[in-house]
Amino acid sequence: MNSYQGPEIEKKWQQKWKEANLFTADLNNDKKKYYNLVMFPYPSGDKLHVGHWYNYGPADSWGRYMRMKGYNVLQPMGFDSFGLPAENYAIKTSVHPKKSIAQNISNMEEQLSAMGAMWDWDKEVITSSEEYYKWTQWIFAKLYENDLAYKKVSPVNWCPGCQTVLANEQVQDAKCERCKNEVTKKDLAQWYFRISNYAEKLLDYDGLDWPSKTILMQQNWIGKSHGCNIDFKLDDDSDILTCYTTRADTIFSVTFVVMAPEHPLVDDFVNGTKYEDDVKKVRDKINKQTLIERTSEGGKDKIGCFLGKYAINPVNGEKIPVYIANFALMYGTGVVMANAHDQRDFEFAQKYDIPLKFNISEDGSEIHPDDFEGAYTADGILFDSEGFDGKNNREALPKIIDSLEGRGFGKATINYKLRDWLISRQRYWGAPIPIVYDPEGKAHLIPEEHLPWTLPEDVDFKPDGTAPLARSKELLDRTEKIFGKGWKAEVDTMDTFMCSSWYYLRYLSNKDSEKAFDKDMANNWLPVDMYIGGPEHACMHLLYARFINMALHDFDYLNFKEPFKKLVHQGMVTKDGAKMSKSKGNVVSPDEFVEKYGTDVFRMYLMFMGPFTEGGDWNDKGITGIARFVERFWRMINEENEVKDASLLEKNVHKLIKRITEDIEKMHFNTAVAAHMEFVNFALKNGVDKDSKKTVVQLIAPMAPHLAEECWEVLGEKFSIVDSSWPEYDKKLVVDDTVTIGVQVNGKVRGEVEIAKDADKDTALETARALENVQKYLAEGKVVKEIYVPGRIIGFVVK
Ligand SMILES: [Zn+2]
Repeated sequence: MNSYQGPEIEKKWQQKWKEANLFTADLNNDKKKYYNLVMFPYPSGDKLHVGHWYNYGPADSWGRYMRMKGYNVLQPMGFDSFGLPAENYAIKTSVHPKKSIAQNISNMEEQLSAMGAMWDWDKEVITSSEEYYKWTQWIFAKLYENDLAYKKVSPVNWCPGCQTVLANEQVQDAKCERCKNEVTKKDLAQWYFRISNYAEKLLDYDGLDWPSKTILMQQNWIGKSHGCNIDFKLDDDSDILTCYTTRADTIFSVTFVVMAPEHPLVDDFVNGTKYEDDVKKVRDKINKQTLIERTSEGGKDKIGCFLGKYAINPVNGEKIPVYIANFALMYGTGVVMANAHDQRDFEFAQKYDIPLKFNISEDGSEIHPDDFEGAYTADGILFDSEGFDGKNNREALPKIIDSLEGRGFGKATINYKLRDWLISRQRYWGAPIPIVYDPEGKAHLIPEEHLPWTLPEDVDFKPDGTAPLARSKELLDRTEKIFGKGWKAEVDTMDTFMCSSWYYLRYLSNKDSEKAFDKDMANNWLPVDMYIGGPEHACMHLLYARFINMALHDFDYLNFKEPFKKLVHQGMVTKDGAKMSKSKGNVVSPDEFVEKYGTDVFRMYLMFMGPFTEGGDWNDKGITGIARFVERFWRMINEENEVKDASLLEKNVHKLIKRITEDIEKMHFNTAVAAHMEFVNFALKNGVDKDSKKTVVQLIAPMAPHLAEECWEVLGEKFSIVDSSWPEYDKKLVVDDTVTIGVQVNGKVRGEVEIAKDADKDTALETARALENVQKYLAEGKVVKEIYVPGRIIGFVVK
């Protein structure tokens, strides 16, 4: 017998699978459908890294398992090829993205194919292709027509590294999620999607099988809070400032009002006054601060200034000053009431010498901020609070809001932290926003007949902070030719997260030149049954895709609201305990291992490292253990030897079916591989017959598909193993540890049964009742009590 020639055998099967079109899903057949989806890669480099493998290998094993369970599995693959990751690669290599991305995609297609996964290449989508982004633009148009897309000027997140604006979701810990530069603010006219209209709908996770941590992250990001808008009139009656607060119970101690520096009324207040200069200086300083610096507690970073205006506290008529401050954000109404019960208010008041008051203390006795180092933020008993003195502040809160509403000062409100999704990018490599401006500057949607509105190629794509499309003569000429003299095209491109927010729909209709997707096909195949990808997408891609899907549902293009029914996040692979990174030089390159051991060994080693959702630690030597196991498996299949204990073999095969099935269902591929190893050790000693070999080969097929296909052929079975049925086990055969226990009726032993140690109560009682002698005593009356202590006793009480 030859040793197992992994790499060679794998090539042979990949060729055969391709020739047989084995993985091209027939979307119209009537078998039960199963949409098995992975988050598609950015072609940002020319090679797959170990993270791709860690995501895709087990995802493919899952798809293969579902196919063997009898499902019509769709497992497509494509490329998220617009956007910064791809463009930055082009800049780094100085090759036009159109060219370099095509090359990267072609390399990655080859590597993905060499993985031997069931990718259905017939359904491939490439988001930077004209046939795809035509429909991304069409979705923009639908949002625009339904008033969910709009343009406005406002201070936006600016990444000095990427030279573009970013959505709030792409700013993490005040840094750009991509290049890690600190994000600053800039006033710009940008395009937004009204995702905030969907805040409440997005909080409905009914029917979704998602990790609870991911749901919690989205809920926090959407940030629903119950509060109150309270109106503070200016003392000169010129305006009303509406403060949003979740602490209406502290209205009685409010001594000043703070506005966000971005609030549009600020300019009205100070322009042409002596405060104008101060405001400008303070705003400049604030714009240089990160969000953390702006909002953190700890006095030194508090910045602001007086606006020369006074407001009236509606409950007590006191005249109080109005400030801007860095810690006030354009959340809620962008205006907050301030008092000594908030730490940032407290620090700000101390710095700018504003009087402070309390109206809550531990026991309701009067306390004063002069006697305190910081804010009193705990709950307690109200004092100096009109008719609410002596009451617990939390209990009184709804009544205080009622009272404010009754007097016309306030209104109970619900607020969300979720802001609209900023989709404009001042970058080259993206889908052009399908908007043109007439000579008066008014925006018009580009009619569908002109889509795709193509990305011009006559521009220097390197970012310089302005939109590269503005430098295209071709775009200008095209726009004037179609729309008329003086018309201009929008020069921003769309955020790449827009491209990835609907790709799962396009896989089903990737060759349809008439429409974005086929309604019936989408309604039939979606939602996605299984979606596997990284947890870092919780508040970006996974939120955006839900929004777009819900909007398309509301426009009556889809009959389902949620795109992804079940979601699983893979864990992370580390190297010798450390995170892999190019700078540390500890990145594992899959290629050399795949070349040496084959992809089955590589994939199984990744799966063996730990539970799929938790990840594991890579060790160069560890993989040799899997290679040895594959060799032993091969020997087990090819060796003819006498079976020593046929009944034990049968039991062990059925136990293996049970274990592997249960492990795969839980995505515990690591323990499934371990179970195979145990079985091979047993089989090489005990001997194994042909039928058992067939079963074991089927059981390893999802995890080592090439090895299984080869063994299947060796055993004389019909191509392909992926279309054989997943083995089922006999419940009786998986019971091994049995125990003999006595059966009592009214305290006297009337018989004995042999049952599994861990038999459940129903099984145990049923077995006991079957004994003739027990039946006799049970017949003497009515059973009023049944007792079962596993492994110890079965008893009946008869009256
Ligand atoms: Zn950046």
